[in-house]
Amino acid sequence: MKLHGILPLLFSSLLALAQSPKLLVYVDPGHGGEDVGARGAKGLKEKDATLDLAGALVRELERCGMEARLTRQDDTFVGLWDRARLANQAGADLFVSLHLNAARARQAKGSEVYFLTLGAGDRDAAAVAAQENGPEARTAHASSDSVVAGILDTLSQEAYLRDSERLAVAIQGQLNRLGGIKERGVKQAPFVVLRGAAMPAVLVETVFISNPREEVKLRDPAFLRKAALAITQGIRHYFAGADGTPRRKAVEAARPPGA
Ligand SMILES: [Zn+2]
Repeated sequence: MKLHGILPLLFSSLLALAQSPKLLVYVDPGHGGEDVGARGAKGLKEKDATLDLAGALVRELERCGMEARLTRQDDTFVGLWDRARLANQAGADLFVSLHLNAARARQAKGSEVYFLTLGAGDRDAAAVAAQENGPEARTAHASSDSVVAGILDTLSQEAYLRDSERLAVAIQGQLNRLGGIKERGVKQAPFVVLRGAAMPAVLVETVFISNPREEVKLRDPAFLRKAALAITQGIRHYFAGADGTPRRKAVEAARPPGA
């Protein structure tokens, strides 16, 4: 990352850390506004279900003593690069992007937790990423987001890949225990939304909206709460096994003596 990019970031992180001693998780409800995401056979839109799930996740995180913020509060479009930028500016410790999987095979079910690969990823993972990245990925550097992308140097996530993998494994382990959800495993894919995050970051394909049974569950607040609790437990396990977070350590190290 270029120095002119990292200095304001560190400064805002120091400020954020001084103001917010709690662990801060940035929750990203996938899609929104004109970007509907995937659709279930019974008409449920991914953008609506991810927002409901995100609300449940914020409540669980707060109940467990963490601070949680959303990249979008309502049905509005937020660019993929802007999502990570919001988390970076707030000095967040973790970034969790919530999505719902879709497959041609209607019986496909279960959870997949992803962290970023700088390469192409395997064929199935790359297909999931292409679906989630959408047209924005192809135009990211030609859009108004290009300034942001330049500041973030597009690869902020590179330094955090190991921690992101640990976070992904911790969340996947909890989601596997959620009733009726089959192990699908932690995967790597080139998700644009994760690239700019200067903190451990994962993308959770919570269940398959394309599976009619899972689509029904997504309308059930009790199921959303259970899924949110599973993700929260995964985050707690990650924090319990981490000696601080990479971001906090970097910020502390950059803090002037006596500050
Ligand atoms: Zn999605």
